[in-house]
Amino acid sequence: MLVGGCHRDVQRHYVPTFRDTVRHRHLPGDCRPVPVRETIAPLDCHRDARRHFVPGIGVVLHRHVGQDCTIRRINRSTEPKPRLP
Ligand SMILES: [Zn+2]
Ligand SMILES: [Zn+2]
Repeated sequence: MLVGGCHRDVQRHYVPTFRDTVRHRHLPGDCRPVPVRETIAPLDCHRDARRHFVPGIGVVLHRHVGQDCTIRRINRSTEPKPRLP
């Protein structure tokens, strides 16, 4: 059932409970996954496509996904256009 076992240290892998890949650890006992925030929080966590500087990558068009605001680069030729509100 558990993917990646029941580790006490912070790891990042797919957690079926969250249906997402998140940084987390597991509680001792019942191995319940607990999300762990990034120690260095992203400057922002926009869900729409924006272009700005990303540490370690540079200035890229991207959006942030998931509970931990993972950066997902956007390939303009393949990414469907975001729907306007
Ligand atoms: Zn885990
Ligand atoms: Zn961003």
